[in-house]
Amino acid sequence: GSSSASQIERKPLFSSLDSKDVSSFKEILGDKNVVEDEERLETANTDWMKKYKGSSKLMLLPKNTEEVSQILQYCDSRRLAVVPQGGNTGLVGGSVPVFDEVIINVGLMNKVLAFDEVSGVLVCEAGCILENLATFLDTKGFIMPLDLGAKGSCHIGGNVSTNAGGLRLIRYGSLHGTVLEAVTANGNVLDMLGTLRKDNTGYDLKHLFIGSEGSLGIVTKVSILTQPKLSSVNLAFIACKDYLSCQKILVEAKKNLGEILSAFEFLDNNSMDLVLNHLDGVRNPVSSTENFYILIETTGSDETNDREKLEAFLLKSLEKGLVSDGVIAQDINQASSFWRIREGITEALQKAGAVYKYDLSLPVEEIYNIVNDLRRRLGELANVMGYGHLGDGNLHLNISAADYNDKLIGLIEPYVYEWTSKHRGSISAEHGLGVMKANEIFYSKSPETVAIMASIKKLLDPKGILNPYKVLPHSLFSH
Ligand code: FAD
Repeated sequence: GSSSASQIERKPLFSSLDSKDVSSFKEILGDKNVVEDEERLETANTDWMKKYKGSSKLMLLPKNTEEVSQILQYCDSRRLAVVPQGGNTGLVGGSVPVFDEVIINVGLMNKVLAFDEVSGVLVCEAGCILENLATFLDTKGFIMPLDLGAKGSCHIGGNVSTNAGGLRLIRYGSLHGTVLEAVTANGNVLDMLGTLRKDNTGYDLKHLFIGSEGSLGIVTKVSILTQPKLSSVNLAFIACKDYLSCQKILVEAKKNLGEILSAFEFLDNNSMDLVLNHLDGVRNPVSSTENFYILIETTGSDETNDREKLEAFLLKSLEKGLVSDGVIAQDINQASSFWRIREGITEALQKAGAVYKYDLSLPVEEIYNIVNDLRRRLGELANVMGYGHLGDGNLHLNISAADYNDKLIGLIEPYVYEWTSKHRGSISAEHGLGVMKANEIFYSKSPETVAIMASIKKLLDPKGILNPYKVLPHSLFSH
């Protein structure tokens, strides 16, 4: 597995599960929702990348906030460590146990509770799958303010807990802006389930839970501001010779397509090759092979005008020599085939072998320098790829190799973290810290900030049972 996870030791203060515990959980949840079945536990103990693996003997499936609260109270009193789990699509090892932590999966809490067609506010349980919410909203003429490749499996509670970014952030902002309130349980239920767009009555505690990766409480309900579905969506797939052109196109797109721009994603040719080689039925939409590809999506309300605008933009970029080739999707099927390329990279990487994933925020002009530097550094040892949410300054730096080995890790880390820190970037743009980067937090946060985070953790989770070994450095909790 990973270098950082294998260096951690189980905290002796945590109790070990015994048969009395199991009986108590069965009393609270009923027999069926206390899972001891080995096959199901094997899946729940293993992360999406098959890189991190725990050895939990128990998974709990609560059906409502009250049950979550009761099991957490029990775990707290017994000092049993727990790991909250949603769709288990996280990419930093946060959603699986490190040792024998009890898995609490909220997948059965999957009901839409209310939808207000005037305000667009959706209230739902945390275990709702993102794609199901999107389908529900579609029937009402609305869309979710976030969209990501893992939508078929990830939960809205997991999205909130990781503050997932994804493909629409450039347009609708982060979940800190669109999640109105969250109910979290830590034993005491913190009901912050409001539906108001504005509410300045003191500290806004929900923000602590957005992006806290299950370390402060379990999110059981979410209220989120959704957006009306607009009638005209267009998608261009374009090819560029060099990274400087990509940057210039981003600047131009913001200027010329600003009010309709809804996504700006990029991938390099190594990523394109990988997708073409590992996914069935995918082909390069443009005829030429180039070093970079960009997807530009626009969303607006005027079909003729929006399309003409995008066409004119493309033409102008071709004339200026910023773009070497480009196509606009003719229908929704072609658009999905374009998206399949960008969204399929994670899956293709998984099929290609071992993958070392880094999710960095950097100044846009620096983004591709780290890819080139790392390529030089690793030479023939691995295939280095760069892609991501260019419009948000977010690079997914991925290194694909035959296996996970210490030599390669030694060449990549701390090099990548130091590089990022030196350029004042973030070592986690959107995936979180999980177990992978808990000890690396100081590359992006000052000791003073981390100390306050640790005090907040102590206040909300005095015994440290909530997702231990994740998010905060282990040195702070060595007792
Ligand atoms: P999990 O993986 O189950 O959990 C993630 C973390 O949240 C863990 O620390 C867990 O303990 C905690 N958690 C989960 N549910 C709860 C809860 N109810 N209460 C408290 N804590 C909880 N991420 C992005 O940001 N942008 C992307 O574009 C993106 N694309 C992806 C594409 C693919 C193909 C894959 C596999 C992943 C992608 N991700 C992306 C990462 C991942 O999908 C997101 O982080 C997602 O939000 C995780 O949701 P989940 O329900 O699977 O959570």
